[in-house]
Formats: sequence, structure tokens, C-alpha cells
Amino acid sequence: MDFQDTPEQAAWRGEVRAFIERERPREYDPDKGMMGGEDGPPRDAPWYRRWQAQLTERGWIAPAWPREYGGAGLGVMEQFILNEEFAEARVPAGSIGNGVSMLGPTIIAHGTEAQQAEHLGRMLRGEVIWCQGYSEPGSGSDLASLQTRAIRDGDDYVINGQKIWTSGAHYSDWMFLLARTDPDAPKHRGISYFLLDMKTPGITVRPLVNMGNLHNFNEVFFEDVRVPAGNVVGEVNRGWYVGATTLDFERSSIGSAVAHRQTLERHFDYWRGHMAAVTHPAGVREELAERWIEASTAKMLSYRVIGMQAAGEIPNSEASIAKMFSTELSQRIAHTAIRMLGTAGQLNGGATAPFEGRLGAGYVASVSATIAGGTSEIQRNIIATRGLGLPRA
Ligand SMILES: Cc1cc2nc3c(=O)[nH]c(=O)nc-3n(C[C@H](O)[C@H](O)[C@H](O)COP(=O)(O)OP(=O)(O)OC[C@H]3O[C@@H](n4cnc5c(N)ncnc54)[C@H](O)[C@@H]3O)c2cc1C
Repeated sequence: MDFQDTPEQAAWRGEVRAFIERERPREYDPDKGMMGGEDGPPRDAPWYRRWQAQLTERGWIAPAWPREYGGAGLGVMEQFILNEEFAEARVPAGSIGNGVSMLGPTIIAHGTEAQQAEHLGRMLRGEVIWCQGYSEPGSGSDLASLQTRAIRDGDDYVINGQKIWTSGAHYSDWMFLLARTDPDAPKHRGISYFLLDMKTPGITVRPLVNMGNLHNFNEVFFEDVRVPAGNVVGEVNRGWYVGATTLDFERSSIGSAVAHRQTLERHFDYWRGHMAAVTHPAGVREELAERWIEASTAKMLSYRVIGMQAAGEIPNSEASIAKMFSTELSQRIAHTAIRMLGTAGQLNGGATAPFEGRLGAGYVASVSATIAGGTSEIQRNIIATRGLGLPRA
């Protein structure tokens, strides 16, 4: 792959960079991020509304969506450059939750005109935050075994069951969820895809506090929850395939690759400023150097994925390799940082603590990276079977 921008790509990069430089929200603290705790993300903060409105106007909230649906209709290389520049500048994304990235493409491909009219615009303007109701206590990696039931009753379906690990359910307005509509069909075939208003009676959201003492995900219980039949997306019992829809999204994980390098640069600065004069644990310098090489490797893996997409190929095991390598690297970087700081690495918060006491929390938070969005073991299965052609165990 040629790593140089073409003249058109360089011009596009310049346009994105100039926009960010001019308009970036100075109030945003990239070290704190957008996830929020109990109060949720700053969805109504004036600075965020302004930033979001500017991105909406350009179609940059959903760069891959076609223009007629409010996207920018960008090709994968243009999306890649946009994402890379946003990551380099550490500015927030224009959308919160899973609506734009996961639900939007599904509604564009399978939704009725009424569903498109009701939901797409509100999603792009940030008026509605969506959460993803897929995982259940017994169904994560083996998602198709899910047991939440939806039974037709007149013009409605009645939902009973439970979801778990639902990120942001406590501040989301709507949920897209998978529920079983035909328990007698083979497990992938009896599932339907629903849009559910979180204010519907019968829904209980219970917080799950993670081991970093943060409340980001939840359990969600459904007790006789009525959802109109018009809120099924695509064909009934074909929800598994409906949920697998993506648009031509760039899948390179370039944002993480850039973030790894930036994190290491901050660690190097700290080392130069504070560690030269003290005795430090053996081997940490070498570990930092290894992490740097790995961060460069992560970037190359991203380039490989985007190179394939730009050539019209569909990355499969290659995207799994990039995801697995990048998430495992985030854990190694967090581990090395704690080794570098020694006991001070365990400080949690505090203006005088190294990195204001963020690295200990980051170390704990990094554990989930190799679980969310498909575990490392599942990625390895994909790499083994689809990438290397090995037989299924
Ligand atoms: C931070 C975070 C946010 C999340 N947000 C959401 C959300 O918003 N919505 C949502 O629906 N879900 C969400 N999830 C859930 C996530 O999708 C699941 O945790 C994930 O798919 C794994 O499922 P599980 O937890 O049930 O583990 P299991 O599938 O039970 O796996 C347990 C262990 O067994 C291994 N394993 C399982 N099957 C195999 C296999 N075939 N071969 C080899 N090893 C295997 C796994 O790798 C893992 O180590 C979130 C998870 C995290 C950590």
C-alpha cells in the first residue's frame, strides 16, 4: 500500500484539519472522554450541542451514510482520513451511543419509510440516544441462543426477558434489541429486531458497577413490555440477518492505533521529566520501547484493513486481527504504565498524583477491551477458521 495521500486526499485532510483547528470545542477534556458516569455524557452541554450541530451540517456525524439520509456519502479512504484527523486532534465524536454506527445503517437498509422518517434525523441531531440490547446472561459470544421472548398480541408484541451489559441504558432514550419470536425455529432463524422506547411501561434498568467503580453498563428487565408491531425492523424472524447489516463503514480501528501512540508519547514525556533521576523497575525502558513498536504495528494493521476496503475487498479475519491486537495492546500499555509508576500507579485521582491518578483507573478499565465487541478468543476463532482455513474445533 502507498502510504502517501493523493493530492485529493491531502486536500481533504487539510480541509478536515482546518475545520478542527477552527471549531474544536475548547471545553472538552479528552482525558476525561465522553462516557460520563452516573450523570451520563454531556449531551445537553452548550459546547457539545454547538459542535454536534456543526458536524451534522457537514454530514460528518455519519460520514458513511448516503447524503439523502443526512450522511456525507464519503468513500472509505475519506472516512479513514476524517477518523484519523479526529483521533489525532482528540476531539469528541459527534454522536453518543450506538445509533449512528449500528442502528442507522440497519434502518437505511431494512427499515420502512416511516421508520427512516421517524428515527434517522433525530439520531443525527443527537436528540435521541440509542443503546444496544443484544447480550443476555446466558448469551454473549453465542448470541443466537438468546432467550428474551416477544409474542404477538394484536397490533403489538409483548416482550419478557432480560438483557445484560447494556452500555448507557440508564441515559438512553431508545433501545434496538433482538428477541426470540419463534422458539421452534433453528436458533438463528427465530429472532426479530425491535425498536423500543425506553419509557415504555414494564422496563427496569438496574446499574452494574464495574470493578473500576464506574457505572457505564446495566441490566435491563422486560416485564410484559408492549411494543408496536410497526417497530420490527425488516422481516419477522429474520432479525439475526437484519442485525448483521453494516454500510460501507471503514473498519480499520485507526482511532485506537492513533490513541495508543499518543498515550505512549505522554508516558515518554513523563519518563523524561520524572524518571531519569530515580531508580526505576528493571526492564521498563525496554517495555516502553516494545510498546512503541507494537503501536506502530497496530497502525500497520489498520492500514492493511483500510487498504483492502479501498480496493473493494471485504476485510474479515484482517479486521479481527486489528481489533484483537489493538485491544490486547491497550492492556499491555496500561500494564507497562503501572510498572513505570510503581506504587504511585495505584493512586486514583488527585491533582498531585502522576497523570492526576488516571492510570490506575485506566489499568482496571482496560480489562474490558478484550471482551466488549467480541472477545479475543472469538477473534482468534475467526482468524483460525476464516483467515488460516483451520477446521472448527
Ligand atoms: C465494556 C462492555 C460494554 C458492553 N456493552 C454492551 C452493549 O451495549 N450491549 C450488548 O448487548 N452487550 C454489551 N456488552 C457485552 C459483550 O458483547 C459480551 O460481554 C461479549 O460478547 C462476551 O459475552 P459474555 O460476556 O456473555 O461472555 P461469554 O460469551 O460467556 O464468554 C466467556 C468466556 O468464554 C470464552 N468463549 C466463549 N465462547 C467461546 C468459543 N466459541 N471459543 C473460545 N472461547 C469462547 C470467551 O472468550 C470468554 O473468555 C458489553 C461488554 C463490555 C465488557
